[in-house]
Amino acid sequence: MVMLDRSSAEERHIEEIRKIKKEMGDKLVILAHHYQRIDIVDLGDFIGDSFELSEKAAHSREAKNIVFCGVHFMAESAAILAGPHQVVQIPDEHAGCPMADMADIHNVEKAWEEIASVIDTAAITPIVYMNSDADLKAFCGRNGGLVCTSSNAPAAFDWAFGRSEKVFFFPDQHLGRNTGNERGIPREEMIVWDPQKPFGGNSSEEIKRARIILWDGYCLVHTHFTTKHVREMRKQFPEAKIVVHPECHEEVVALSDAVGSTGYIVKYVQEAAPGSTIIVGTEINLVKRLARENPDKKVIELHDSLCTNMFKIDLKKLLWTLENIGTVNVVTVSDTIKEDARKALKRMLDLPRP
Ligand code: SF4
Repeated sequence: MVMLDRSSAEERHIEEIRKIKKEMGDKLVILAHHYQRIDIVDLGDFIGDSFELSEKAAHSREAKNIVFCGVHFMAESAAILAGPHQVVQIPDEHAGCPMADMADIHNVEKAWEEIASVIDTAAITPIVYMNSDADLKAFCGRNGGLVCTSSNAPAAFDWAFGRSEKVFFFPDQHLGRNTGNERGIPREEMIVWDPQKPFGGNSSEEIKRARIILWDGYCLVHTHFTTKHVREMRKQFPEAKIVVHPECHEEVVALSDAVGSTGYIVKYVQEAAPGSTIIVGTEINLVKRLARENPDKKVIELHDSLCTNMFKIDLKKLLWTLENIGTVNVVTVSDTIKEDARKALKRMLDLPRP
């Protein structure tokens, strides 16, 4: 049983949120990402990582209102997958993702044109990480590509390599590189595309030789972890297992015992033997919750790393959204973008399950 220190205002908010949930019944679904504050997670109807929540959004047809407690690109993906009778809202419209902002449609289309001047684009499949704006998902839908999450990146890469020689992956270079490493792609066949430089800073020869072109984007939360953190924790807890997220640097992944998506990390901790010590390299709110929910194990953060955008959503904002159901912070996507983006998301949902 998790005991939390709450103010009386927070207790009141929880009570009121529960009341609205009860009144709305099946008409309302609250989706909460694993990195949300513990109170928000407790109030969610479904908790998951971006893959699990996108599946829920695609299948929650009975709910007229979907309230997405996560960052903007997640709510946008829910809006793409939702039916015409559904309204998606986010409690704080400023909860964005800095990594998603590192790639925009203008720069990605420019890069695609430059790549097309060197190789035939039939030889390359674009894959966009879920952490991206809807127009980038639409770009992939239009160009024979797909979306992936950290849960299904290996399956998405296999799908792409079954159709073409090369992959163009954006915006997270680390997830792309770690997936390439896992698939045995040699280092010299993975290049980084810097959108500020002509041809991403690569020569024609490098582009021709590359199997994977990685956008120069990264997650501030996961690249915060260093090999020094891993070494220090190994020294302090020699018996521990270390599990990290694939948005971490490849050197950090190489020194860890396991790597996987948020959903994988949750399962890894839950399935660890009682009495074991697990060091977790991901967002701090999730690590703290895992520690509380698994009191028979020692769960410790690799280092303190908070996603300040996920943290923007709190009880007050969730209550305000529910009191203004269907009207405030509604997340919409234009029909043209929706159609192409849905193609790319559907291709992902049709991949073999992670
Ligand atoms: Fe974006 Fe990183 Fe926060 Fe996820 S943890 S929402 S990738 S900044």
